[in-house]
Amino acid sequence: MKIAGERVVSFHYTLTDEEGQQLDSSAGGEPLSYLHGTSGLIPGLERELEGREAGDQFEATIAARDAYGEVNPALIQEVPLDMLAGIDNLRVGMQLQSQGPDGRVQQLTVDSIGETSATLNANHMLAGKVLHFEVEVTDVRAATAEELDHGHAH
Ligand code: ZN
Repeated sequence: MKIAGERVVSFHYTLTDEEGQQLDSSAGGEPLSYLHGTSGLIPGLERELEGREAGDQFEATIAARDAYGEVNPALIQEVPLDMLAGIDNLRVGMQLQSQGPDGRVQQLTVDSIGETSATLNANHMLAGKVLHFEVEVTDVRAATAEELDHGHAH
């Protein structure tokens, strides 16, 4: 069965950045499953999977715009250290959560820490990055009525 809309796809993947550093992998665990055609994956990877079948292995290099998007400078802000006084062991690379103006929880990364302020970055950690995937499709099946109704794989 080929990968197309209304099908549930399972695959193993290893994700590396342009420098070849491994960022994520499903190896040794459960494969990732998603409902094809519902933007459950980054668009570039979904496009690469289209038309493939169980057992297919391939590599794909995906530009930032087809992955997690370009870095948005408006999402990077400097805040006074006073505002972060309640956080233990504040350090570069740390992930913080804050509530945005719309009430949604935002994930922030501490980009740098100065003497009086810190730079917080609300871009996705993989924004602006070219991503390299090694993929092995393990299963393709028709989605159930319930999965189609919910818009995701079960
Ligand atoms: Zn559901």
